[in-house]
Amino acid sequence: MVEDRFSTDYGIARELYNNQDKTLVFEKVDGYDFRVIGNLCCSRDSLYRALSTGKEEYNEKVARAVENPVTPRIVKNARCFEGEVKGLHELPILRHFRGDGGKYITSGVVVAKDPEHGRNASVHRLMVMGENRLAIRLVERHLYEYHRRAEEGGEPLEIAIAIGVHPAVLYAAGYSPPRGYDELSLANALLDGKLELARCRTVDVEVPAESEIVIEGRILPGERVDEGPFVDITGTYDIVREQPVVEVTGIAHRRNAYYHALLPGGREHKVFMGLPIENKIYREVKKVVDVRNVCLTEGGCNWLHGAVAIFKKRAKDGRRAIHSAIEAHPSMKHVIVVDDDIDVFDPVRVEFALATRFQATKDAIVFPGVKGSSLDPSADKNAITAKLGLDATKPLDRLKDFESAEI
Ligand code: MN
Repeated sequence: MVEDRFSTDYGIARELYNNQDKTLVFEKVDGYDFRVIGNLCCSRDSLYRALSTGKEEYNEKVARAVENPVTPRIVKNARCFEGEVKGLHELPILRHFRGDGGKYITSGVVVAKDPEHGRNASVHRLMVMGENRLAIRLVERHLYEYHRRAEEGGEPLEIAIAIGVHPAVLYAAGYSPPRGYDELSLANALLDGKLELARCRTVDVEVPAESEIVIEGRILPGERVDEGPFVDITGTYDIVREQPVVEVTGIAHRRNAYYHALLPGGREHKVFMGLPIENKIYREVKKVVDVRNVCLTEGGCNWLHGAVAIFKKRAKDGRRAIHSAIEAHPSMKHVIVVDDDIDVFDPVRVEFALATRFQATKDAIVFPGVKGSSLDPSADKNAITAKLGLDATKPLDRLKDFESAEI
C-alpha cells in the first residue's frame, strides 16, 4: 500500500520501476478518483500461483488447457458495469517514460469479433489522443486482420478494452494461438470454467464480467494517426508509426475500481508477454523432440532469446529443436538448445553448455534476412533480421567425454 499521493505523469511509473518485485497499490492518485495497482504479477512464481499450478506441472497444465478450451458463459448484471465515467480524462492513465508519445493504456485486453473467425482477445498498447480517442498499435496479427477486413467494407470494427482482469485472461490474450481460436476460452479452461463474460452495452462484444474497467469503442475505417514513440519490452524506444484510431463509445467500471498499470519493460510486462510464448514454444518443440523446459531469458528481454532443454535421443534432435522453436516464436533471434541436465532458468549453466558442448563450425545455424521482432532496434524498419540457433547438446557418440566429475 502506498500512502503518499502520486502523479500519473511519471510519478507512479517511477515507483513501479523502482519496486519491480512488489505489488503496489496507490490509494491516492493526483487528480483522479480511481486507485491504481501495478506490478501485480511480477515473477514466474506469482503467475504459477495465479494459475493454481507449480513450476513442475505448469507447462503440461497450460498445454492441456490450450488443447481443451472451454467457452465461457455469459452472465447478466456484471460487476464491470456498476459505474460509468464520461471520458478517458477520468481514468488515471500513466505517462511512463520521458520521450513517450503520450499517456498509454498498457494492460488492456482488446476483445473483438470477426464474422468468419469469431472472437479474438489480444493485448495492445493504446495511446490517448483525446477525451474519446485512442491510437491502437496493431502488429500484423489477428486484430490487425479483423480491422482490415472491416475497413475494406467501409465499416468500423467494434471492440471492448478490459482493464484489470484475472492474470489468466492477460496470459491467454498473450498466447497468440492460431486465428479463429478464442483466447477467452483458453482463459476459462485455465480457470477451470470459472470465467464469466458480460455483454457490452454499446458494442456487440463480450468482456470478463469481473473486469475493473471496460472501455467500449470502434476502430475507425480509413483513419490513421502517428502512434509512438513508446518504450516497449526492451526498455528502448519503439518508433513512431501510422496506426488506426479507436473512437470510445462508453466507459464502465466496478464500484471502487482499480486501474491496472502495467509498466512497459517491467517484470510484469515480461511475465505476461514472455511466459505464454514459452509454453507455446514448449508445445511446438514437443512435436519433434522430447522437451524438458523452455525459457525466454531475462537478458533477451524475455522475448528475443530462448534456451530450450531437450532429452536428446537422436543425433539431429538439437537442430530439430532449433527449427521448431524459431518457427513457434518468430520474434526469437537467438536460441540455445541444451541437454536435459542443464537448467534453462540458470544463465550460468546455459553458458557452461555453450562453453563445453558447442562448436561454432558445425553446431550453429544462421538464418539470414528473415522476419523477426519489430521491437529489436538492431533489425531494419521492416523487422528483417538475422537469426542464430546454437546446438549446445552433447554429441551422442562421445558422451563419455562430457561426464561431469564427482567426488
Ligand atoms: Mn487470436
